[in-house]
This record gives sequence, structure tokens and C-alpha cells, in this order.
Amino acid sequence: MHSATEPSFRESVDLMFKRATALMDLSPGLEEKIRICNSTYTVRFGVRLRGDIQTFTGYRSVHSEHMEPVKGGIRYALSVNQDEVEALAALMTYKCALVETPFGGSKGGLCIDPRAWDEHELEQITRRFAYELIKRDLINPAQNVPAPDMGTGEREMAWIADQYARMNTTDINAKACVTGKPPHAGGIQGRVEATGRGVQYALREFFRHKEDKAKAGLSGDLDAKRVIIQGLGNVGYHAAKFLSEEDGCKVVAVIERDGALLDDKGLDVEAIFQWIKAHGTIKAFPHAIYTENGAAVLEHDCDILIPAALEGVINLGNAARIRAPLIVEAANGPITFGADEILRQKGIVIIPDMFANAGGVTVSYFEWVKNLSHIRFGRMQRRAEEARHHVLVEELEKLSADKGLGWTLSPGFKDKYLKGAGELELVRSGLDDTMRGAYQAMRDVWHGRNDVTDLRVAAYIVSIGRVATTYRSKGL
Ligand code: GLU
Repeated sequence: MHSATEPSFRESVDLMFKRATALMDLSPGLEEKIRICNSTYTVRFGVRLRGDIQTFTGYRSVHSEHMEPVKGGIRYALSVNQDEVEALAALMTYKCALVETPFGGSKGGLCIDPRAWDEHELEQITRRFAYELIKRDLINPAQNVPAPDMGTGEREMAWIADQYARMNTTDINAKACVTGKPPHAGGIQGRVEATGRGVQYALREFFRHKEDKAKAGLSGDLDAKRVIIQGLGNVGYHAAKFLSEEDGCKVVAVIERDGALLDDKGLDVEAIFQWIKAHGTIKAFPHAIYTENGAAVLEHDCDILIPAALEGVINLGNAARIRAPLIVEAANGPITFGADEILRQKGIVIIPDMFANAGGVTVSYFEWVKNLSHIRFGRMQRRAEEARHHVLVEELEKLSADKGLGWTLSPGFKDKYLKGAGELELVRSGLDDTMRGAYQAMRDVWHGRNDVTDLRVAAYIVSIGRVATTYRSKGL
């Protein structure tokens, strides 16, 4: 996606970092220490498949160990390379610091087209890759905890967890070696939807602030806002679904690898998702206009543009033509450094990746804590909470009857109020609180300093500041 004149993804992240540190008071040595990637392990391993030995190349990059374990997903894609893995690992460091998950930053990748292999083959490949990482402590509950990313999901995480358990039979915390596992294999409710849910909470929080909306020339709430979403993978699908079904947004375009679907009246995201599942393509979806040139749709008129697929999709080649007043980076690094500058000059407000897509790692944190505490959230409190609520409602009803007040509770109130929070509700509440807190921290810098004019620099300033504080307290 990057043109030859643009820096690489990793350089782009470095340049964004430096734009922030230029406004900070860090010693050059500390700045360098925070910026550089600590290590990247490359492994080439063979798996006997289809009658021959197939060789695969994988990476696990550790950007910063100022806190351990380090955290970050494992991506399966043919485009995976060292530069990309290092850029993504750096973003994990800043993301974790911004949303206060107590982790350093890491990322992994395997150069593979997951669709070219069947399930049994993928399991063998994943277990072998995991084996290589586990024996070097690059997967370990206390040191390095992977999670899903592009091309991986619950299934791969369950294989990794099982592989770790087989190799560490006496580790009582084995399940915490990876997050994003299915609930039946030690996962947590709400992890699959988490990144998309986080995008929704991020937007809701942005829309709570009149001055912030005004900077993007927007007003009112999310209802009827026109949204274009690029990528209907796990993140894009959940974000688009929640925004359209719960906040009244109109998803006017969905861009996928094989074109785009358009409808000014708003698309049915769930129907498109099911169509892709059944047919493997968005083509021929009956309830929308189809266009082959998906990339051009990024430039269409809308209120909110949500790139939720690959890095570098908004670059020097198209930035000048982007018309959305507000861009939410649901993907990691969808806007190149050069494009970022052009968009800022145009007055476009960007909600940066390290905040917008931090829902995934936030709920990963909850899952890791759940695994270490060996108990599901809400198990001890839920019924106690219900019992207390009962006491209150009964008292109100008794008062009303005794005094002849004739009070009646609204229909549905009892059901809603009496129910104690289960794991999913607690996860969503923790995520919402995290997103609001992180936005507030960014916003304070954005509005509080004259030399800060955009949310990305504000986000970097907050997170780099926190990493620096951790280093300093270690005596560095
Ligand atoms: N891969 C996701 C990300 O880029 C999730 C990472 C995690 O949960 O550790 O943030």
C-alpha cells in the first residue's frame, strides 16, 4: 500500500513518535530507549504436509519490556514481515500504556495465507510455531502473552494454549499464556466483540464532547451519522454492527477486498456479514449497489470513516481526496505519516489507532486476570447483588402498600434492576470505563496545551510519558 516515496510502516510509527517527543522533555537517551524495538526473533520451521516438508517463517517482536508480560497479537498473512511486526509491537507498547493495561508491547506474525490450508494443517502449523516460541519463553503467562490479530482467532489461541499446557504440565497459570481463547477453553465473554465494541465506546465518548465534535464540524449524537467502514473482519463487523444497530448510525458503504457495497439509506451489516460467510465475497449481495473499485469509496462523502483492515490504506496517494471530517482508526496504522499530515491540514479529526482499537487488549487484560485468579468475574458477587436489590424493591413496595401511596414500578424495571451483573456485563462495563478514562487523558493534553493540535500526538504524549515514568522509577 505504501508508495516508494513513503516511509515504511515502522518508520511511520517512529516519525509519529518523534513528532510527540519533540514536544516533551525527555533526555535523548531515554527517548531512544523507549522508541527502539528491544528484540525480534525470527524462526523458520518445517512441517510435513501434503507429502513434503513445508517451510514457514514467523516472528515475535518485543518492543518494550518496561512492564511484563509483554502483550500483542499474532497475525497470519502473506504480507507479514519484520518491519510490520516491529511497527505493530511498538504500537502495542503505546496502546497498553494509554489504556493502562500493565503490559509491555509485543507482536507476532506468521507469513502464511491461512485460507490456503485446511483446519488440520493449520493446527499442525500453529502448534509447531507455538512450540518454537514457547521454548524460548516468547509465549509465557509471566513474560509474553499473545492474542488474536488479522488471520487468527479463538481457534488458533485454543491450540496455542493447549500446546503450552502440554509443554508445561505443572504450570498452574498455563491458561494465562495467551488471550482470546474461546470461553470453554479459559476465555472470557465479550473478547471476540471487544475491539469493535471499543470502537463504539470510543465514538460515544467523542460524541459526548461538544467542542471535540465541533473540531470535526459535527454536532448532535451518533444517530443518523453516515459511516463508511473498510474491512468487515472481526473488528469492522462488530463496530459497524453495534454502531448501526445500537446507536442509529447509517452504514452507507462497506469496503471489502473484492469491492464495495453502497446504500445511502444504510446497509444491513449483519446480512452482508452472513452473505460473505456463505459466498466468500460481497459480490451479488442483493440489497445494495456494488462497485468494484473499493479503494475509491474511501474518498466518498460521509460523517465518519472507519478503516478497519490493513495499515497504510490512507496514504500520499489518496489523502488529499478524503472527505470524511472524522476518521476512526479501527485498524493499526491505516494512515501513513505523510497522509496524517495532509489530513490534519485539511482539518480532519483522527481518533488514533492506539486508542480506537484498544478494546481488544483491554479485554485481553481482563481475560489474563481471570485466568490468574482462576475464577469467573461476578461469580462471588452476582447473587449477593441481586439479593440487596430485592430488599430495596420489597421495601419500596411495602412502603407504598402501608402508606397507601399506590406506587407501581414501571414495567420491566424489576427485571432490569434485580439482575446482578454477569461476566459479559462486567467486561463491557470495564471496557467502557477504560475507553472513557483513556479518552479523557488524551483530551486533557489535546485541549490543555497550545502546542498540541491533534489527538494522535496527545495519545503519544500520554503513553510515552507513562512509559518514561516506569523507566524512571526503575532507576533508568
Ligand atoms: N491484536 C490486537 C491488537 O492489535 C489485540 C492484542 C491483545 O489482545 O493482546 O491490539
